[in-house]
Amino acid sequence: MKTVLITGANRGIGFALVQEYLAQGWRVIAVCRKSSPELDATGAQVIAGIDVTSAQAIQNMLQTIAGAKIDLLINNAGILQHEQLGDIDESTITQQFLVNAQAPLLVTEALLRNLNEGSKIAFITSRMGSIADNTSGGYYGYRMSKAALNAAAKSLSIDLKPRGIAVGILHPGYVQTAMVNFGGDISAAESAKRLSKRIAELSLQNSGGFWHSNGDKLLW
Ligand code: NDP
Repeated sequence: MKTVLITGANRGIGFALVQEYLAQGWRVIAVCRKSSPELDATGAQVIAGIDVTSAQAIQNMLQTIAGAKIDLLINNAGILQHEQLGDIDESTITQQFLVNAQAPLLVTEALLRNLNEGSKIAFITSRMGSIADNTSGGYYGYRMSKAALNAAAKSLSIDLKPRGIAVGILHPGYVQTAMVNFGGDISAAESAKRLSKRIAELSLQNSGGFWHSNGDKLLW
């Protein structure tokens, strides 16, 4: 049985990924700050109390999973905040950078011993991190943090290739979750299904690519 570890697993796309991988017969380790009744009801192994920006929490997560082999790591946890030009609060920029860019890198680094040849890592990024695709401006901290995440994930794809670990940089689509006030154009379940297809297609040959969950290649 294959094992997937998913961050931000209590709600939204992370929760839908938990359901998707359980339906596909995987063992799921669902990492979150606080569990939800829906998550508790799934049968996934829930590791709660994990704020991904906390080094101590990451150590606690490592201790809980012990030496478990992870076939797939999905760095999904993220936040979106809004800045107004002329009134930018540096704390929202910093917080998004910590959660969206730095934490996925540090979570991945912490789990390297649990990943083996043939393991895969998916980073749930956003096309809002694409500089080429930015036609509407704004969203300073979110765009900056997701562009930084893409840069880190690309480096990981290069550094981990000799170890046989493939990395996917995936935009989930515009998804009906709390992050976008449920205004997306696909459900979280549909997004999770599409993301799982992209992850299944991921290989050492295409590692480091930036894709929409619908399969389109995205520009940096
Ligand atoms: P939600 O707001 O529904 O869920 C966000 C998840 O991230 C929650 O589980 C939340 O946990 C978790 N999280 C936030 N901060 C932390 C933290 N410090 N430590 C641990 N967990 C944390 O959003 P989505 O499901 O939509 O977002 C999932 C991913 O998809 C994000 O990376 C987002 O940027 C990306 N994305 C989403 C899009 C969309 O249209 N929805 C579009 C493009 C990208 P808690 O409940 O504790 O807050």
